[in-house]
Amino acid sequence: MRLILLGPPGAGKGTQAARLEETFGIKQLSTGDMLRAAVAAKTDIGVQCKEIMDAGELVPDEVVVQIISDRVDEPDCRNGFILDGFPRNVAQAEALDRMLSEKSMSLDLVVQLVVDEGALLSRIESRIADNPGAVRSDDNEETLRKRLKIYHDQTEPLLPYYEAQGKLHKVDGMRSIEEVGRDIEKKLREVSGTG
Ligand code: AMP
Repeated sequence: MRLILLGPPGAGKGTQAARLEETFGIKQLSTGDMLRAAVAAKTDIGVQCKEIMDAGELVPDEVVVQIISDRVDEPDCRNGFILDGFPRNVAQAEALDRMLSEKSMSLDLVVQLVVDEGALLSRIESRIADNPGAVRSDDNEETLRKRLKIYHDQTEPLLPYYEAQGKLHKVDGMRSIEEVGRDIEKKLREVSGTG
């Protein structure tokens, strides 16, 4: 099973990806988490990307495409994977399509978590309030607004892109984690023929 979770920052992609990882034994691949690990380890990529990430901007396409290309070849991805935070623009989506076809892989599903943006801002504010010590260096209101704008300008065009491929499934992301999760699982079983 191979799928993409799409949605603006704070929509619950990470939470749902972790659930799917548990339920189906497929691997959550979050480019954001991998880049943060690279920043923490001060690798070349981490050093190159830190400022861009702190500003809420997108790191170069080649960087994330290469990270994902290497990662999906690892043995823990053999049952499949959930892409969380990748692709972020049409160029990345096209690179992903090429990469998967070279590896004789294909995507089963693209899930769009549909959420209310006012509520997103409050979710992130409460994430900051609940856990001030653990706040990400890009978790502040100004950066969040920038990330939302980038989502609208660059990531939303992926919706018609995947709609045209017949892969897009919209899910109301404002319900409970359980309800959203069940909806995604049902669809995934349907499309992957493991229902
Ligand atoms: P995230 O945790 O997915 O919100 O990602 C945190 C930050 O990492 C983003 O604001 C970007 O700076 C960078 N990033 C993560 N994924 C990508 C991607 N697919 N393309 C470009 N930049 C990314």
